[in-house]
Amino acid sequence: MRQVAILSGKGGTGKTTVASSLAALAGRAVIADCDVEASNMPLLLNPEIRERREFETRKAEIEPESCIRCGLCIEECRFDAIRDFQVDPVKCEGCGVCAYICPTGAARLKPRVSGYLYVSETRYGPLCHADLLPGESSSGRLVSLVRERARAVALERGLDLILIDGAPGIGCPVIASVTGVDLGVIVTEPSMSGLHDMERALHLLRHFNVQPLIVVNKYDLNIEMARRIREFCDEEGVEVAALIPFDEAVVEAMLRGMTIIEYESKGRVSEELRRIWSIIQKFL
Ligand code: SF4
Ligand code: SF4
Repeated sequence: MRQVAILSGKGGTGKTTVASSLAALAGRAVIADCDVEASNMPLLLNPEIRERREFETRKAEIEPESCIRCGLCIEECRFDAIRDFQVDPVKCEGCGVCAYICPTGAARLKPRVSGYLYVSETRYGPLCHADLLPGESSSGRLVSLVRERARAVALERGLDLILIDGAPGIGCPVIASVTGVDLGVIVTEPSMSGLHDMERALHLLRHFNVQPLIVVNKYDLNIEMARRIREFCDEEGVEVAALIPFDEAVVEAMLRGMTIIEYESKGRVSEELRRIWSIIQKFL
């Protein structure tokens, strides 16, 4: 089984446009949407939900009647999640230290639903995706569950490719998106911040021994920066798979809930996306 992750140093670079189009071109693949905080793939692929599971986490709570206000939990909580003998559920990581050290049993861990994990059907194959509820942390763990479920679905259906729409940025959810993948496609934009974000994503892929591939989206909005990105990639020995031009058809396709491949199959953007897919196929 091979796994390809589509990444970007930050949101809004066109990562999901590329990922959904690759899903359309691949045909037989499991799609794993690992952007669990702002899942976009379902908006484009109009999925029919077949399975929904609760994502449970644990958070600490302090029972005021049993608390003797010794302050031990406040001292020992590494996440600074306890103030005035009350737990801030947004900061609490559920590590359990307070419950372990509390002399009276006032601090306890309680399970709660922090999100949902789905398996859905789309016109391009099964989609594993998730929703992390607002204010909840643990997105890295939820990403790992999405990937685990995607592997199981691939095995059940005899599909040998998983296409991952990675979480944006370079934090814990992205690390969970790229560990163990075969190829990482970094989608960037022609700007200084785009170059900087791409460098960071490249560093991350190299750290995890993942082969990188670069895609510059909307390259013609700043041809000079697109040239600098290409030069940087040449110096680093990283392949630039495609320079995708800006095209309003991409937005029009999105508004209609279609991938650009479906909306304008013979357009310039689709041509570049086909080029990326053929490079990926050769690699795989
Ligand atoms: S350790 Fe237990 S008893 Fe002490 S302040 Fe915290 S909750 Fe209260
Ligand atoms: S479970 Fe861990 S993070 Fe949460 S309040 Fe207790 S010590 Fe802090």
